[in-house]
Amino acid sequence: MTRHDARISEVPSTYRLRLPGPTEVPERVRQAIARPVVNHRGPEFRAELARAEELLQPILGTANRILFFACSGTGMMEAALANIVSPGAALLVVAHGQFGERFAAIGRSLPAKVDVLEVPWGEAVDPAVIEARLRETEYRAVVLIHNESSTGVVSDLVAIGAVLRDHPALLVVDSVSGLGGVEMRQDEWGVDIVVSASQKALMCPPGLGLASVSAKAWRVINRDDRVGSFYWDFRRALAAAEKAETAFTAPVGLVGGLCEALAMIHEEGLPNVLERHRRLAAALRAGGTALGFGVFGSAPLLSSTVVVFTLPARSDGTQIDGGQIVRDLYDRHRTVIAGARNRLSGRVIRIGTMGAFGQGTILTDLAQLEGSLIRLGCPVTPGAGLLAANAALATGC
Ligand SMILES: *Cc1c(COP(=O)(O)O)cnc(C)c1O
Repeated sequence: MTRHDARISEVPSTYRLRLPGPTEVPERVRQAIARPVVNHRGPEFRAELARAEELLQPILGTANRILFFACSGTGMMEAALANIVSPGAALLVVAHGQFGERFAAIGRSLPAKVDVLEVPWGEAVDPAVIEARLRETEYRAVVLIHNESSTGVVSDLVAIGAVLRDHPALLVVDSVSGLGGVEMRQDEWGVDIVVSASQKALMCPPGLGLASVSAKAWRVINRDDRVGSFYWDFRRALAAAEKAETAFTAPVGLVGGLCEALAMIHEEGLPNVLERHRRLAAALRAGGTALGFGVFGSAPLLSSTVVVFTLPARSDGTQIDGGQIVRDLYDRHRTVIAGARNRLSGRVIRIGTMGAFGQGTILTDLAQLEGSLIRLGCPVTPGAGLLAANAALATGC
């Protein structure tokens, strides 16, 4: 079967969506999304939107209102900046991966004056460097990625939040691939704007974006000196949220799905969900390492929601390309993992460890990766990956 012949209606039951987003959508959530569409300004939907907000607040660690938009994660990144940038305002954007670079590009497109704080990919930004840059230049905001999906690195928001707490600059954070899988305590840490989206650890299809905005950020937004935006205007979104509505037609089905997904998170218990992500990501790293992969990056805080591996060499000493493993897993098993479409292209593979997944998921990943490596001519001790992962799971990592 060629790629062009592959049809959604013929996706086999063994198809495994193991990307760092979009992620597998549980049956319960799919059923909720399939319910009849209701009036987006009627009582049934208002109750659902209010419930989505109430269930999200503890996951964000906030008492803020939640603003919902029909869009992918990038739309919310743009919304966050469009609401706070006025002509001439400068942003300090931390770029330690592909999504940080995207944030900088969005800022420039508004346009805003963007200073990029470059950090080597695979490392986390040093909060002291942000502090030093804030002393040199007056910034409207420090902008960064919570969980950089291209490198598997988590930013130290506790320390960065502390730097900005008594400073006029805002802290704007993309937690698209973090929220629901990596801890977020927005109010306690002093994060001013958090944006996220439905299709990662929140276990929904793509298409629903959300934002949570602090009182400090509202003071900037309400100055009304922005470069301008209509659809993304947070003030309009807030006015609608006060009535448990969205400013424009909400993706009604997705909000229903999100409520179900959030209910699942709370049934399991948020601390348990976060611990499951951490434990299973660590076990996958342990198993992959035993198979000969390397763990990309040297940051103190590795992601719980995405595992990024560098590639082993073949027995003859030549290097394999990440794309070969991605293709082999799809061709052999219809398992879909990610490579990289940036400067790491060919050099890494990335596997999602977020949302609806368990021990069996990562053990299957490792069994299939082992087969791939053997087919590609890499020296592998059969069973070593599973053994190491099971050992890691047994000790709780
Ligand atoms: C997935 C992702 C996004 C959003 O990408 P979209 O394709 O626009 O949904 C943004 N930031 C990060 C860190 C992501 O992982």
